[in-house]
Amino acid sequence: MAAEKTSKLSEAYPMKAGDGPNSYAKNSAYQKGVVGAAKELLNRAIRDLSVLQHLSHCRLGPNTFLSVENILEAVEFKYQGQGFNSQILEFQVFFNDHTPNDFNMLFKSLPQSRQYYAAGVPGSFCGRIFANASIHLVHSSYALHWLSRVPKEIVDIDSPAWNKGRIDYSNSTEEVVRAYEAQYAEDMECFLHARAQEIVYGGLMVLIIPGRPNGTPHSLTLLNAVHQLLGSCLMDLARKGVVREEKVDSFNIPIYNTSPQELEAAVEKNGCFSTEKMENLPRISALDIDNVTRRAQLIAYHIRATTEGLIKQEFGDEILDELFGLYSKKLEQQPSIFESGKAINFLLVLKRNAN
Ligand code: SAH
Repeated sequence: MAAEKTSKLSEAYPMKAGDGPNSYAKNSAYQKGVVGAAKELLNRAIRDLSVLQHLSHCRLGPNTFLSVENILEAVEFKYQGQGFNSQILEFQVFFNDHTPNDFNMLFKSLPQSRQYYAAGVPGSFCGRIFANASIHLVHSSYALHWLSRVPKEIVDIDSPAWNKGRIDYSNSTEEVVRAYEAQYAEDMECFLHARAQEIVYGGLMVLIIPGRPNGTPHSLTLLNAVHQLLGSCLMDLARKGVVREEKVDSFNIPIYNTSPQELEAAVEKNGCFSTEKMENLPRISALDIDNVTRRAQLIAYHIRATTEGLIKQEFGDEILDELFGLYSKKLEQQPSIFESGKAINFLLVLKRNAN
């Protein structure tokens, strides 16, 4: 069977690799909390599924292994409950991420006691990454808010959607917001289309996606608000002459915070999946710390681990410490961002319909 060509280009934005103090592995306690919060719901979803042996997974580090263990535990439990010997089950787990990601680190840190066969699958999940009808369960946590690229028009100086002086869309013009929304809708369409071909009939897709409750303005979404503040720090550096202002104009973070309404619309448009579950996960407490200074530092580390790669590409290594030092101070001075910002994580369980 010929592999379908990946229908579109997608850019990679590697999280900070390795396990150093600024790495993603060391600065993703929040994402880990999300995996924990989803465990019980995941158990319930898996109870209803028939066969489950080829799992596909997006990616990196300790949180990913935890998710895999939670899924396998739920499947084994289900089999035992049906009177089968779960020892006879064999699992193949595929770990997917963009090609430039640190797969070596992933392979090196695979748990020694794991009860599954592991393989790495490089390439964007916006296109095809698996053979037809070969996957029983897809799990993705904290990845689907990344756009496949920065929308073209927002870096076009002649376009009404040019995003001057900002690195996110939350307080930008209508045109910029529309461009982000349209890119997200397009990416979800490609993602669902590709998975619909790869997942067996009756197979499951478990998606954990950060976003905003229906009706929440983009500017009140926590992740947007913290990105906006980072943008203001870059503008401060531009005023000091540390970076060029045109660079800030052309730099944008390709992250979008969706809502349940938008997700439902995407699933309906695709038509190959039924929604088994759409729930808000409980609030994650990893960043609920009373000490304002400590909290500011933690958020700064967290945002650094996910955006450093992008910023480095555009502005170089040299500015990172100064930028994130300033950022941490500003976060500390503006605690209201954290207190009023809305952050919601959705658990979406989709089942592949038989055609
Ligand atoms: N699931 C992990 C990692 C989340 S970080 C956790 O919960 O901690 C998000 C990951 O998604 C990054 O490694 C990023 O490279 C990957 N990613 C983002 N867009 C992607 C795409 N289109 N295709 C494949 N991987 C992607």
